[in-house]
Amino acid sequence: MAKETRILLVEDEVRIAEVVQSYLERDGYMVVAHVTGEEALADFERRPADLVVLDLMLPGIGGEEVCRALRERSDVPILMLTARDSEEDLLGGLKIGADDYMTKPFSPRELSARVRALLRRSRAAQEPQADVLLRAGGRLRIDSGRHRVYLDEDEVELTESEFRLLLTLARFPGRAYSRYELINKVQGHDFEGYERTIDAHIKNVRHKLGEDARSLRFIETVYGMGYRFAEAEK
Ligand code: CA
Repeated sequence: MAKETRILLVEDEVRIAEVVQSYLERDGYMVVAHVTGEEALADFERRPADLVVLDLMLPGIGGEEVCRALRERSDVPILMLTARDSEEDLLGGLKIGADDYMTKPFSPRELSARVRALLRRSRAAQEPQADVLLRAGGRLRIDSGRHRVYLDEDEVELTESEFRLLLTLARFPGRAYSRYELINKVQGHDFEGYERTIDAHIKNVRHKLGEDARSLRFIETVYGMGYRFAEAEK
């Protein structure tokens, strides 16, 4: 039998928690519900979950802080629940590392579909990764084992940080990454922990890939949030 999928639910509104829990249990997940962020973090510390459904407005430490604390130690998919629906708040949630969000009131059926999608994505990310990524119809070749990048057979010289940034984005074309996430992925070596540093690195990578000169577009800007690798043209 496959390993049980464990979902941590952090929600202080009992009625919502009950509905979410029963829907997710019906889908075959094991759900552990908590009312406060403190409890949820302590639980996660003892036993990591496969996914976290996290309410933004909580008594005690807020959902944003819980999200940040989880992100510091794990790549666990996080689905945020929020009563606020201003764009700024939603983007704020994604910036601090949530993978998706839903605004209350939401349909439990929709929530269970989002959970399924997030779990699928995170499982795909955990699969052994190919050493060589081919993108743009094979024109761009990223050799992660040898740390080399080729564009139309010409080697592109990237710094360590630029290489990691490109590799992170290119692994999942179409997936948007916040600057905060990119810092975490690229951190180490000579990396300064400022979000704007990412912009400078992206600019360099684009330039080295000849984006301006060759009318190519590999890396797209996601306004107000961060960046993503362009999806292949259909
Ligand atoms: Ca709440």
